[in-house]
Amino acid sequence: MIIVMGVSGTGKTTVGQLLAKEMALPFFDADDFHPESNIEKLSSGQPLTDSDRKPWLEILGKEIKNWEANGGAVLACSALKEKYRKTLSTIPSEQLTIIHLSGTFELIKKRLSHRKGHFLDPSILKSQFEDLEACHSAIQVSIDQTPEKILQEILSKMSNKTAFGIIGMGVMGQNLAINMANNKVRLSVFNRHVAGKEEDVAKNFVAKHPALNIQGFDDLSEFVDSMAPPRNILLMVQAGTAVDSIIDELTPLLGPDDLIIDGGNSNYLDTNRRDQALALHDINFIGTGISGGEEGARKGPSIMPGGSRTAYNRIAPFLENIAAKDANGKACCTYVGPEGSGHFIKMVHNGIEYAEMQLLAEVYELLRNGLGMKPEEIAKTLEHWKTKGLDSYLLEITINILRKEENGELLLDKILDAASQKGTGGWSTEAAIRLGSPLNTIADAVMARNISAQKETRTAANELYGQIKQPISKDRDSFIQALMEGYSAARIVNHAVGFDMMKEASTQYDWSLDFSEISRIWTNGCIIRSELMSAMVNFFKDTDRLLFHPAIVKSLGEQQASLAQVVGQALASGYPVPVLASAMNFFLGYVNGQSSANMLQAQRDYFGAHTYKRVDQPLTESFHTEWT
Ligand code: NAP
Repeated sequence: MIIVMGVSGTGKTTVGQLLAKEMALPFFDADDFHPESNIEKLSSGQPLTDSDRKPWLEILGKEIKNWEANGGAVLACSALKEKYRKTLSTIPSEQLTIIHLSGTFELIKKRLSHRKGHFLDPSILKSQFEDLEACHSAIQVSIDQTPEKILQEILSKMSNKTAFGIIGMGVMGQNLAINMANNKVRLSVFNRHVAGKEEDVAKNFVAKHPALNIQGFDDLSEFVDSMAPPRNILLMVQAGTAVDSIIDELTPLLGPDDLIIDGGNSNYLDTNRRDQALALHDINFIGTGISGGEEGARKGPSIMPGGSRTAYNRIAPFLENIAAKDANGKACCTYVGPEGSGHFIKMVHNGIEYAEMQLLAEVYELLRNGLGMKPEEIAKTLEHWKTKGLDSYLLEITINILRKEENGELLLDKILDAASQKGTGGWSTEAAIRLGSPLNTIADAVMARNISAQKETRTAANELYGQIKQPISKDRDSFIQALMEGYSAARIVNHAVGFDMMKEASTQYDWSLDFSEISRIWTNGCIIRSELMSAMVNFFKDTDRLLFHPAIVKSLGEQQASLAQVVGQALASGYPVPVLASAMNFFLGYVNGQSSANMLQAQRDYFGAHTYKRVDQPLTESFHTEWT
């Protein structure tokens, strides 16, 4: 269904008829559907009011539905205001193409003055220009050319329109673009122009991949114009102010039903805010986590979209096509929930990732320095662990790292032992405080990076206190066995910590998160994919608390003593094991039916009269004691 719009005198009928003939569709003129009263008014030079137009537009809306059901049509209709176009939009937006014929006031006035046999008084033109509201979803065509040329431009613009746009041709943007284009999505890409620094980035990318048939832009309105409405635009730019400034630039260029998808690692609170702000402009918004790094982006990432469900349904085929597939061939992409829920779970995903990485670093240090094992011996040990239910992407890359040499020497030994943390790790910790949720392993993994980053201080302190690390004096094989069991226990606890915080967020924000489905989309494509994650898909069908599942109660119950033993031995021998120890502390705190918090409550009441609850009185009552 095609509507040719514009003020009077732009040639809607002529162009519409040519287009209808070309496309073998019936042609209709909206003026033929005016009630008699409107025609009289127009002929006598009086402009129509909105209440005059209402019944006329409603008649047209009904006709459009019928025409579309019968194979489509071309309708010439002024459709000047957005609310008129809304009344006409009785069919899904993807079935409706709007073509706006535009020209200057002077040009159109000149044309109208030569017109004969038409009931419209040219004096009405002025009021029409005043009424005209930009239609961002329309294909824009200038009338300053012959009708045949206008037709050619329309046909070429209609056929060249792309279905999806990506902004930000960095590492992720480029690889996702290649993935999408390989999946036959017609694509526009944009990268900002910064004179002398970032020039022709998108065009160079397109030129490098001619077979993909992608259109590249460094002009934002040309980029927007290149896409068929309703537009789907994925932002792959740095989280933070860059996302806000791109959204600010895009908003005036977009129309109702257009969709912005933020695929960067944005803070979920920012996503909540943007979701509300864009709703005021009738622009759909989705905040999605995308995990898998460069390779995942190109070959199949795990995708975690949150926001408008209707908008998700529209773009689901695009996202599910490019996503990794689970063991059953289903896409590792699902609608997560409203608002910033997609970015929230991506943040927790990364938090779990921080702690999983730190656990492997601690295991490595205990084996390498505590037991004095060679890198290849450690790699072989970890390969054995893979066969014991501990297989994971992170374990696999750790084994590869232990074998990577440079000039005959282990590359790992040349890498500075200082890691930074940015964004998601710290945000997870902040979210835990905001939600009142324990996040021991993840918070300690963030702190471990912070202490590692203080290389100079650590070196100076090391000289001050001397060598504290000692060889671990224990039967080597039994220590390795305990370490494997302790590592397994710590991983279970770490996953429980992350999922428990998502459960808390789901309750407090009313998101209705599905933990089995979240585990499922994390079984492939993402960094924390593992055998444990695959098992969790089923565990979360039975319970929404991982540590309450009977299979977990059994295995963790058996392994927790090994974790305690390893932590004790490591600390006594001078090795920091923040996340192994944190997992143990979380576990003991979690299973502690009678904690020491009664002492805290007594202290708080003692110095601050904060009151306390009693175990021998109803919990609805509070008590205070004069302690001295
Ligand atoms: P990147 O390679 O550094 O690329 C960033 C892109 O953002 C570039 O195209 C850059 O344009 C653009 N940009 C930066 N500031 C901008 C601004 N003010 N206005 C407009 N464009 C701006 O980053 P990336 O690795 O692709 O990551 C993109 C997003 O995905 C980030 O949020 C990141 O956290 C997230 N992410 C990354 C990974 C990963 O493994 N790399 C994985 C998952 C998610 P210029 O080239 O002109 O500077």
